[in-house]
Amino acid sequence: MRVIDVKEISNAIAEMAVRTNHFLTADVKKCISQCRLNEDWPVAGDILDKISRNIEIAEEGVYPLCQDTGLACVFIEAGQEVCFAGGSLTEAVNEGVRRGYSEGFLRKSVVADPLRRVNTGDNTPAHITYEIVPGDKVKITFAPKGFGSENMSRICMLPPSAGVEGVRDFVITTVSEAGANPCPPVVVGVGIGGTFDKVALLAKKALLLPLDKPNEDPYYAALEEELLEKINRLGTGPQGLGGKTTALGVKIMTWPTHIAGLPVAVNINCHVSRHAQIIL
Ligand code: SF4
Repeated sequence: MRVIDVKEISNAIAEMAVRTNHFLTADVKKCISQCRLNEDWPVAGDILDKISRNIEIAEEGVYPLCQDTGLACVFIEAGQEVCFAGGSLTEAVNEGVRRGYSEGFLRKSVVADPLRRVNTGDNTPAHITYEIVPGDKVKITFAPKGFGSENMSRICMLPPSAGVEGVRDFVITTVSEAGANPCPPVVVGVGIGGTFDKVALLAKKALLLPLDKPNEDPYYAALEEELLEKINRLGTGPQGLGGKTTALGVKIMTWPTHIAGLPVAVNINCHVSRHAQIIL
């Protein structure tokens, strides 16, 4: 059994909270630059230039990428040969969020109760997803999620007869109706299958996939490409002011489902598609 002190988890989370709010991954930045080359509508080109400049400023370390520094979504894949020592793992994650958001001067955006709405003051609690996997390592993914885009996300329990056409219509309608609200260009995470709760998680996890690698399944790689093309033909464009770049990518994750159902979820992320990963 490998023993990991939960302090290591807190330290990793605190560091990733600051890092993700200042640095986008290389695939997202590369995609924004490539889309800029394709834009001939001057307003769209100007907005993409400003987005790139904003990324450079954030990397200087003083200002975060966006004023909405997100609700902390944390995914922990814990090897079953690992034992966590030194206290509660969940509390260690929240301590890392508390420290990262305080030391990094990041906005605290969490209310303790959804209706009475008093700010917790330290951006906790994190939304934590635990998974037990084989091995003696721990993989932690930190993804702060802004709510301009989260609010535009949708779930639908389609009948199986709706098929791929139903999925296609639902994804495109969701992105079209979102308009400028999720600060396009967006990244579109699509979950297909599972149950009502599982499909939302699939869509959220799809947002963590690299933009520069196609789906491993050629059927879904083709569907991702087709959806991206159709979404970019909507004409919403950067910040909703027209253009070819409504989405940077569409990523799909699937799961087996019941014979009577076809759950679909669309989790939209903005161009500030923040995430980082560490393996302990
Ligand atoms: S949707 Fe994204 S870019 Fe827009 S305010 Fe929220 S975090 Fe910022």
